[in-house]
Amino acid sequence: MSTRKVQQVITGQATTDGAGVDLVRVIGQPALMDLDPFLLLDAFRSDDPDDYIAGFPPHPHRGFETVTYLLNGRMRHKDNAGNEGVIEPGGIQWMTAGRGIVHSEMPEQQDGLLEGFQLWINLPGEHKMDKPAYQEHDAANIPTESRDGATVKVISGVTAQGTTGPVSQPLTEPVYFDVILQPGARFDESLATDHNAFVYVIQGELELEDNAEDQLRLGRDQLAVLGKGDLVSLLAGDQESRFLLIAGKPLNESVARAGPFVMNTAPELRQAFIDYQSGNF
Ligand code: MN
Repeated sequence: MSTRKVQQVITGQATTDGAGVDLVRVIGQPALMDLDPFLLLDAFRSDDPDDYIAGFPPHPHRGFETVTYLLNGRMRHKDNAGNEGVIEPGGIQWMTAGRGIVHSEMPEQQDGLLEGFQLWINLPGEHKMDKPAYQEHDAANIPTESRDGATVKVISGVTAQGTTGPVSQPLTEPVYFDVILQPGARFDESLATDHNAFVYVIQGELELEDNAEDQLRLGRDQLAVLGKGDLVSLLAGDQESRFLLIAGKPLNESVARAGPFVMNTAPELRQAFIDYQSGNF
């Protein structure tokens, strides 16, 4: 067994998106444009409605998947195919945009804390034009595994103990775990050796081994890109820690991206704009 070492530490970049939502872009910014198959990771956390109330009015997507995971607050989702619903705390919406969807994502609250993540996962070229699809699960439908000093919410993928998440995506075999670690507890998990993986700290501190085999301390809102290996092994600091562990199979395809469209080539991108502007989504 080989332990995955920290290759790169990323601190997110504060930015604004949608109609004026303050968020932190962790993947999809100059320090880390993508981590195949992951194209973007946004984190949002605010109890000031001015930071989020404008939401994300109708906008398109084509060629990939958007995964919204809420820790606090509620978001209403509506698309041009007539789908509508509210994502509640602890709930996940895994949207396969495929050939195209136009949707809005709006806070379903006037005040209080809104906290969560949006992850974009690429689709292989031969599936970019698939029919749009949703996998939506509320908190009660996401299994929680209890270990010594740890609880693991399994959204997608399978843990070493066999707990299986409700979301399935055979094209990229994503692992999406939300882990809470007691102070000083260790967390070990095996992942497919050649898949790309990262850890994002939500709360507390984690210790991981870096390339020089030194212990590296990772703090809140920091992301560590993990090198190849079998095993993820990390240690909580002296407070309770919470982190996302996310991994997926790299597609190794060319990426042509512009705003809400992610294709393989520039002509495919141009076609996406034409199709959207001519109402063919
Ligand atoms: Mn969207």
